[in-house]
Amino acid sequence: MSKSIHVPLVVLGGGPGGYAAAFLAADLGMGVAIVDRDERLGGTCLLRGCIPSKALLHVGRVLAETREMEEWGVHFPKPAIDLTALRARKDNVIATLTGGLATLARRRNVTFLRGEARFTGSTSLEVATAEGATSLSFDHCILASGSRPARIPAFDIGSERVMDSTAALELRDVPKSLLVVGGGYIGLEMGTVYAELGSQVSVVELSDTLLPGVDRDLVKPLQQRLEKLFTAIHLRTKVARLEDTGTAVRVHFEGPAGASTAEYARVLVAVGRRPNSDGLGLENTKLVVSPKGFVEVDERQRTADPHVLAIGDVCGEPMLAHRASHQGKVAVESLHGEPAIFAPRAIPAVVFTDPEIAWAGLTENEASAAGRNVDVSRYPWAASGRAHALGRTDGLTKILVDPETDTVLGVGIVGPGAGELIAEGALAIEMGCAARDLVETIHPHPTLGETVAFSAENYFGLATEIYRPRTETPAR
Ligand code: FAD
Ligand code: NAD
Repeated sequence: MSKSIHVPLVVLGGGPGGYAAAFLAADLGMGVAIVDRDERLGGTCLLRGCIPSKALLHVGRVLAETREMEEWGVHFPKPAIDLTALRARKDNVIATLTGGLATLARRRNVTFLRGEARFTGSTSLEVATAEGATSLSFDHCILASGSRPARIPAFDIGSERVMDSTAALELRDVPKSLLVVGGGYIGLEMGTVYAELGSQVSVVELSDTLLPGVDRDLVKPLQQRLEKLFTAIHLRTKVARLEDTGTAVRVHFEGPAGASTAEYARVLVAVGRRPNSDGLGLENTKLVVSPKGFVEVDERQRTADPHVLAIGDVCGEPMLAHRASHQGKVAVESLHGEPAIFAPRAIPAVVFTDPEIAWAGLTENEASAAGRNVDVSRYPWAASGRAHALGRTDGLTKILVDPETDTVLGVGIVGPGAGELIAEGALAIEMGCAARDLVETIHPHPTLGETVAFSAENYFGLATEIYRPRTETPAR
């Protein structure tokens, strides 16, 4: 039987964009419903993305540290991994967090409707629920339908041995060998997890570098470590075809040395993500979708349809959870009549590999592509006491500074914990700090956080642990 409901604000999608928007709207007194096809709140990030991958990466990191302890004379026996318990622990993390979101939604009187939603007009959705179709009319809708793994038709061979990130996170087993197609965020994070658990991992990347787009000096220490952890890294190489042999996947490569084949127990395809803007009935609204499938929005998150706003992965890159949540809050504030806009100076990004890579604001690649004159000041972690104490001197912290005003424009960090350290950089850039503000902020010793201040000291040529022969007295 079909039901009809009117809700002032409907949020389509219960991911980090959608639930952040819905909860703020409820806090501001709006009547809100979230619609999601999944029975649990959390979206890609919580259910099959950020959180499960970081739980598994934590296990990988601990395994790596036990090996590194050999150098310090501490010997652990070879670890025994109980995969059932490991999966259960990861699933428990997800269950706790999604359960917490459900409680928060109930307490705020946010209605949750489970079902597949489709726009039937600018102010109406039809939701296919287990009980039948529900017609939802609304004054406004925030579209937060997220994204899904990009698929390459030639790889769709109907084989369970070929996985996307969702299947890889299920961790059905630890295959003897794994080929990761795509040397981006997911390929390197999940490749690290499987390699640490015992798979022989190879990566194949189309372009001439891992993490294309990320500054080379930040990628280098990661690549050097991955060259030891992984069995092989094939750059400038294309996978032309996959075949399931019944016991493995035969992969046909086309690389700089010509064509070749190899067999792997599993293949993980991680070649990017596509926005969920199709199949939503958007043709029944006034929304405009770009050729890449992103819903077009202005800086208040408004679409071309006055009744619909859009946030998160469905409306552009970078496809990151914190961007989605931030946009969700801007969308609600703009509906609430506040002068909110989404115009950040810095959206921090973190690749949670070992070492981690993190950056915020302007990158060197972006500065050089734009022909922008910046000073780059690097602080190698080999000069940091804390990095030596941790046995991790392979890190680097750098700041990009406007030479005219000394304003901090960008921060890049590679090293363990870079993802935590970058928050200071994001704050410095958002607040328009000058390099001197970082120098004059007393950082606790001995910490890796000091390297942010020391890279600023080095901008003035005055870093305590770095000697520079003087030709003249530096200007302070
Ligand atoms: P999503 O989280 O994708 O949520 C969209 C929701 O909409 C889903 O729940 C979906 O079921 C629902 N939906 C879609 N269409 C319909 C429909 N027609 N009807 C009903 N419901 C619908 N980002 C980070 O910032 N940090 C990380 O460490 C990180 N790690 C990641 C690891 C992996 C393996 C992956 C895959 C992604 C990772 N991301 C990470 C990216 C992050 O998950 C996304 O950027 C984020 O989830 C986007 O949030 P969103 O709210 O826009 O959409
Ligand atoms: P990605 O864009 O990060 O990397 C995809 C890689 O695949 C690129 O390096 C690309 O050159 C390569 N590639 C494309 N086609 C190929 C082919 N045919 N053969 C070989 N290589 C090919 O995409 P992803 O790793 O799938 O992740 C998707 C998105 O999810 C990310 O861009 C990011 O926005 C988000 N994510 C974020 C995090 C995080 O914040 N730590 C973690 C995972 C995912």
